[in-house]
Amino acid sequence: MIVEKLQPVLDQVLLRNAGEPEFHQAVREVLESLGPVIAKHPDYLEHALIERICEPERQIIFRVPWVDDKGQVQINRGFRVQFNSALGPYKGGLRFHPSVNVGIIKFLGFEQTFKNALTGMPIGGGKGGSDFNPRGRSDGEIMRFCQSFMTELYRHLGEYTDVPAGDIGVGGREIGYMFGQYKRLTNRYEAGVLTGKALFYGGSRARTEATGYGNTYFIQSMLATKGESFDGKRVVISGSGNVAIYSVEKVQSFGGKVVAMSDSSGYVVDEQGIDLELLKQVKEVRRSRISDYLQLKGSQSGAYFVGAEKGSIWDVPCDVAMPSATQNELTGKDARALVSNGVIAVGEGANMPTTPEAIGIFRQANVMFAPGKAANAGGVATSALEMQQNASRDSWSFEQTESRLAEIMRAIHDNCASTAEEFGSPGDYVLGANIAGFVRVAEAMRALGVV
Ligand code: GLU
Repeated sequence: MIVEKLQPVLDQVLLRNAGEPEFHQAVREVLESLGPVIAKHPDYLEHALIERICEPERQIIFRVPWVDDKGQVQINRGFRVQFNSALGPYKGGLRFHPSVNVGIIKFLGFEQTFKNALTGMPIGGGKGGSDFNPRGRSDGEIMRFCQSFMTELYRHLGEYTDVPAGDIGVGGREIGYMFGQYKRLTNRYEAGVLTGKALFYGGSRARTEATGYGNTYFIQSMLATKGESFDGKRVVISGSGNVAIYSVEKVQSFGGKVVAMSDSSGYVVDEQGIDLELLKQVKEVRRSRISDYLQLKGSQSGAYFVGAEKGSIWDVPCDVAMPSATQNELTGKDARALVSNGVIAVGEGANMPTTPEAIGIFRQANVMFAPGKAANAGGVATSALEMQQNASRDSWSFEQTESRLAEIMRAIHDNCASTAEEFGSPGDYVLGANIAGFVRVAEAMRALGVV
């Protein structure tokens, strides 16, 4: 429920951003959490502060022409939504996926603003990408696309202005091609303009692992509040990209058993526990489909594949669920299946993977629920550590970087938990994250005046 005073703000957002359901969903969720904070501090209603938070500072949409391997000219659309710079330069990833449109990028930029605030680091919020589909494209095509994309985007970036990174469809290879083009266009070796770089040209150790590790740390802290741990737990992780892979690694190191993973084609169940090396072989080396895992594992292993049209990964019984694929992948129906199979905790590795109906079902059933803007903040937090290393021309060890990440995740967890308690809903991490993130952004915006 949204309080009466905020209803006009939401109405205006719906009107002004017609046809952008994911953006509406993200804004509604935050506004629904703000009731208790404006009851206590009605001054947040002044100076159109909340209206300004819901309106991106700048939205850039551009043509991306490129030539494919057959010599044909292809056209895609590029986006960068610079959402909020009250706390620092715009910061947030780039997503290359055919589903990308301005509404998707706005929802991601809005979430990113609060997520980045929760990290406690000096970073604003932004997001970008393209409707380019990398699937089946050659390395040369990927490079030409990245170069064309950066040829427009570079003029809007800078280590003090806007610092992109990866997201779905954008990993180390794409960041490398974009950094190369930025360097060529500007004639500056400005390492801090992009994060998620490879180690040998200014990347940070533990950045690749950070989102998955971070979500696992967050859930560990959440479980600990109920005297529980990952040890001996059955875990299901959707997705099989960077976030999912490194969640498997960390969950296993904490004694949990990951029994299922997925991609858009379907899911694999391995009751012996997912073999991390095989998984990396399939996804990082071959860049192939999850069903290839079975080929490598062998037909005698008992592992099996279910096609996406035949069922949902959330039908696989588990104690802990970590949706780490994409937005709105975990529906009300999935939540009911998880609850009836006895799930005790859910942590979002992806951005907004759980539908509002599903969150309601978890809340009713007293399932611990960690929202993405808190639980998956480890990725962007480590990007901020990468910026810090670039600014000081330094390179930290894996141990030092990971221990900073673990500290940051603990602090985010404790901040969300204590904020939820302070505002009368102990254990409600959605409320805690939204309020804690909002307050940090709102205080900075107020101090900077009406800009
Ligand atoms: N795309 C990631 C996220 O959703 C990382 C962003 C970054 O490192 O800037 O937070």
